[in-house]
Amino acid sequence: MTTHDVVCSARTSPRTASAIVTVDLDALAANWRLLKARLAPGADCAAVVKADAYGLGAKQIAPALRRAGCRTFFVVTLDEGLDLAPVVPGCSIYVLAPPLAGNEAAIAAAGLIPTLNSLGDVAAWSAFARAAGRPLPAALHADTGMRRLGFAPAEMAVLTREPERLAGLDVRLFLSHLACADEPRHPLNAEQLTAFVAAKARLAAAGVAPRASLANSSGIFLGPEYHFDLVRPGAALYGIAPVPGQHQPMAPVVRVQAKILQVRDVDAPATVGYGATHRFSRPSRIATVAAGYADGYPRSLSSVGICFVGEHRAAVVGRVSMDLTTIDVTGIPENLVRPGMFIDLIGPLNPLDEVAAAAGTIGYELLTRLGRRAHRVWQGGGTP
Ligand SMILES: *Cc1c(COP(=O)(O)O)cnc(C)c1O
Repeated sequence: MTTHDVVCSARTSPRTASAIVTVDLDALAANWRLLKARLAPGADCAAVVKADAYGLGAKQIAPALRRAGCRTFFVVTLDEGLDLAPVVPGCSIYVLAPPLAGNEAAIAAAGLIPTLNSLGDVAAWSAFARAAGRPLPAALHADTGMRRLGFAPAEMAVLTREPERLAGLDVRLFLSHLACADEPRHPLNAEQLTAFVAAKARLAAAGVAPRASLANSSGIFLGPEYHFDLVRPGAALYGIAPVPGQHQPMAPVVRVQAKILQVRDVDAPATVGYGATHRFSRPSRIATVAAGYADGYPRSLSSVGICFVGEHRAAVVGRVSMDLTTIDVTGIPENLVRPGMFIDLIGPLNPLDEVAAAAGTIGYELLTRLGRRAHRVWQGGGTP
């Protein structure tokens, strides 16, 4: 990391901040390179930056990935695509779930590539392309078992029987999405792979042979037969373990620290916080930090969250409230727990996935819910 690369949110500073979210762009870039290095020969690595890059700031994340070599990005909404286009010039931006009809001109003007999820989408985009008199790029999404979006098998059959429906379109990508990739032994993985290969072959026989893409982060780890031409990781780039319960190959990208506002000694018996849910059985020291569920620290971590003061473990005691969390710092050296110092809510010793599991959720949800009130720091530049 080079210090001149540190970019901060404008309004706040570490001094005025109550909580700090630090995003390590070098770790992000390293994660992208690590995934790319795992791929079958010829396969390329895209990046999914939907939901503001899983809450970490697409405007910072996407350019850092571009500097690392990434040239293909996926978002979900049209608005996300419109926001992203100016920050990753020269790159392909796929929009996974655009509200297509009525937005054709906006999509074309921004140079975005819509994913066509239904025959209705195909009709609308193809009509627009023919009227525009130039081929327009598109992705085709087949449903192979997720059953949320994409062409059902019967609709795929219509497309392969009547490929003229794609007139005017430059079909760049054929994709599907895995439902159980994070469970390597789940039988649906192989079923979806088989269905995808078959659908791809039928399309090719009908004269439509674009690049193919099946794997999300976890799908990459199912093996090279899942890689095809392009993989679409999101979570793993941001440090979420792609294969839960196994060795975590990804570098942590996010750290969340909360400032200590007060430190107090309490005598037993006494209680702390809303509902008086925690009762002290011994004289204790409590640090009150300036972050709560409004900052994305889940209320379900009440009395179960684990924080760290340096290498010292410290448990959340009592309820997590909107703005404040109380942490038992009994026995931790006094010079480490003074007002103004920071405690790790998510950090090197209490990684995202563990905090999420303790909260009864997954890293994806924890990340995307990080609040907007914290001071944000994007460290490093994403270059080696
Ligand atoms: C979100 C998403 C991805 C990325 O999934 P991760 O599990 O975060 O890697 C890939 N493809 C599609 C269609 C998605 O919606």
